[in-house]
Amino acid sequence: MRKTILAALIAMLASGSTALTENYPSRPLTIIVPFSAGGPSDVMARILAERMKLTLGEAILIENVTGAGGSVGVGRAVRSAPDGYTISFGHLGTHVANGAIYKLGYDLLADLEPVVLLPSNPMIIVSKNAVPAKSLKEFLEWLKARPTPPTAGTAGAGSGSHIAGLYFENITGIKLQYVPYRGTAPAMNDLVAGQIDMIVDQTSNSISQVRAGNIRAYAVTDAKRVASAPDIPTTDEAGLPGFHMTLWSGLWVPKDTPKEIVARLNAATVEALNDPAVRQQLENLGLQMPAKDQLSPAALGARQKAEIAKWWPMIKAANVKVD
Ligand code: ASP
Repeated sequence: MRKTILAALIAMLASGSTALTENYPSRPLTIIVPFSAGGPSDVMARILAERMKLTLGEAILIENVTGAGGSVGVGRAVRSAPDGYTISFGHLGTHVANGAIYKLGYDLLADLEPVVLLPSNPMIIVSKNAVPAKSLKEFLEWLKARPTPPTAGTAGAGSGSHIAGLYFENITGIKLQYVPYRGTAPAMNDLVAGQIDMIVDQTSNSISQVRAGNIRAYAVTDAKRVASAPDIPTTDEAGLPGFHMTLWSGLWVPKDTPKEIVARLNAATVEALNDPAVRQQLENLGLQMPAKDQLSPAALGARQKAEIAKWWPMIKAANVKVD
């Protein structure tokens, strides 16, 4: 009797999950972007969602759930149903660094399933236009000559711009005063207005303001120049050799999401990344496409683990205070 009930229960659960997977998706999906609208995460998510909806046949909404370096938005995604309808957009900051800074109510590895690696962004050292420097060397001199620590905008403790700022402090010995925002979109508004001195920003966020002459750019933190902005030198060329950092992004879903759904989301994203029009839009922002062999869920999981091992010691040593 017991056995029959158990067998019936298992069959019921199995058919329920098959129905869930077979009909997936049958209503709109939501991507939770943990930073402000108009910032680099938001822009990338919207470009991809626009194309992914053609493959999935359902609308994809972007919800900006901001605060605490992106950990509020990731927490929301972790607590949502593991049915493939809520997706967590994040990056090296939210899905790696935050674990070394905040007492998160979730485990970055155990509570999330990796879906796919997204393009990466070299960082770019930018300042307000009022800074008189013409090169990175002159900018470093200007920063050193300030009587109080220069102000650097970030998207909150543990965000990409914050980790990049810590790295910059480490390599230059210059102390910065961080000004946390809910994303680098509002930080950029204040940089253009001259309210803060600098940002070590994602290139995709700064590039249009640099092109428009609204801010000054000194160097990109990569071994090679950005193809869509070839006049900006690399940190190696401009005088901070070895200051390399690219901010990769990715998509995750809550743990226990059926494997078939993870595979559907992965395939829809890969299709979007392979679309030449999408590619062009992303590359024009200075983004670098992931290598083909890095596009499986497992590859993102492996990267996330390796990055945790690499970054947590440095972040913990920096004794970061949360905002
Ligand atoms: N990616 C963040 C944003 O979209 C910025 C950051 O991590 O610094 O605003």
